[in-house]
Amino acid sequence: MAKIENPSCSECGQLHCYRHNKKYPDFCLTENVDPAAHAETLGHYRGDSIDAKVAHAAAEVEGLYYCKLSRAEEIVAFARRIDAKRIGIATCLGLIEETRIFTKVLRAAGLEPFTVLCKVGSTDKTEIGIDEELKIQCGSFEACCNPILQARQLNETKTDLNVIMGLCVGHDSLFTKYSEALVTTLVTKDRLNGHNPAVTLYTSNTYSKRILDPEYLADL
Ligand code: SF4
Repeated sequence: MAKIENPSCSECGQLHCYRHNKKYPDFCLTENVDPAAHAETLGHYRGDSIDAKVAHAAAEVEGLYYCKLSRAEEIVAFARRIDAKRIGIATCLGLIEETRIFTKVLRAAGLEPFTVLCKVGSTDKTEIGIDEELKIQCGSFEACCNPILQARQLNETKTDLNVIMGLCVGHDSLFTKYSEALVTTLVTKDRLNGHNPAVTLYTSNTYSKRILDPEYLADL
């Protein structure tokens, strides 16, 4: 295997930072962390700040419900613990049916969902400079995704927590950038794998081995 120039945690065979049951590698990020910077991060998790509240809520959901709850249920448990009542949903058009079901879950839990579809604003793709040839159906009106408007509308609604439902790669980045509320994800879009991106990684030695082929990747 070719030597990796700048090894990081993905090249670590020890993972000693987790349980202190092996030893740190030479390039260990824990061993080399600046103590002051490390302490500064820990300060976020202590006390009464929102960061502390979120960190403790996440740890409590993990600790209490490890392998017992689905992610949809974990979002309910997490929202309760951070006192989030109004839940924004930034949904993809392709996930609207799943979003409708999730809103029923949230309402049944006493929460208040508010959904904004990716196509909100209804602007044709060509109006933002996207080539007609890049449309899924050339020659027809096809709205562009507007993740910034999704975020702005949820910001105006003053949501306490926003949930991504299958936004495209990149659109999710913009949504997260412009969302004022904390963001978590229920569904990560992967059209090829039924929205389970890990499938490609699980099958990288067999059906998906193209993803390790540099020539194939060079053309993407
Ligand atoms: S922090 Fe150190 S021990 Fe932990 S995974 Fe990274 S390199 Fe390995």
